[in-house]
Amino acid sequence: MKQTIFEKIIARELPADFVYEDDKVVAFLDIKPVNAGHTLVITRIPYESYKDVPENELSHLMIISQKIGNAVMNATGAQGYNLITNCGEDAGQVVPHVHIHIIPRFKNDGHAHWQGSTIPSPEEQMATAKSIAQEL
Ligand code: 5GP
Repeated sequence: MKQTIFEKIIARELPADFVYEDDKVVAFLDIKPVNAGHTLVITRIPYESYKDVPENELSHLMIISQKIGNAVMNATGAQGYNLITNCGEDAGQVVPHVHIHIIPRFKNDGHAHWQGSTIPSPEEQMATAKSIAQEL
């Protein structure tokens, strides 16, 4: 069975700086932090991406991510944090085991947000909203 690098971290076959764990989720520092305190919150079960996580585990993952985000802020003195998940390779996901990035942010830390670069017409926006709504 394929084992992700994060499964090896959970099994203590690889080292990591752990900050939290319970029966469903585990959190540890990112090996290559955007800012010090950058933490990854993952599910114990290696769901590939955010889109694959069952609802009961997803709600727990997000509740714990909020708690850890607030703790990261307090511990680092950050003014805020980004909570990000890259869902799929084309969205920048490298490790195929769902993880929430918590990135502490500081005033003028130089990490720019992405900018919207497409300017759809109102009709295009309406059609896009309609097709998303139809999928729900
Ligand atoms: P992704 O691009 O999949 O959303 O992010 C994967 C993250 O995992 C990256 O930020 C990367 O630095 C982190 N990462 C990759 N390998 C390891 C590792 O062995 N240990 C830890 N702690 N983080 C890792």
